[in-house]
Amino acid sequence: MKKEMICIVCPMGCHLTIDTETLDVKGNTCPRGAEYAKEELVAPKRVITSTVRITGGLHKRMPVKTDGAIPKDLNFKCMEELAKIELQSPVKTGEIVIKNVLGTGIDIVACKDM
Ligand code: SF4
Repeated sequence: MKKEMICIVCPMGCHLTIDTETLDVKGNTCPRGAEYAKEELVAPKRVITSTVRITGGLHKRMPVKTDGAIPKDLNFKCMEELAKIELQSPVKTGEIVIKNVLGTGIDIVACKDM
């Protein structure tokens, strides 16, 4: 069976077709597209971007993101973890907000000095 998807690794957005039995990928302009299609089929992952509460500064929300992709099926649990966080200003860009979120080996980091 063939499965179609759009590569989200870079802004080119190549239209990929993967054979679900042989894992043969077509439509990718570069090798990263083939890697993405295989991973998306077997164990999809996503980078999470969101905000958390912060006190003591000008703004009430701090932008944060994962410093790598986490399994897609942990997205909602990750958002639940972020909802529990309240930072105290000052916080620097790149500061770790949650270390090893949900045991993934990936950290949640601040995206702004606040
Ligand atoms: S296949 Fe390569 S060039 Fe195409 S969207 Fe993916 S990363 Fe970008």
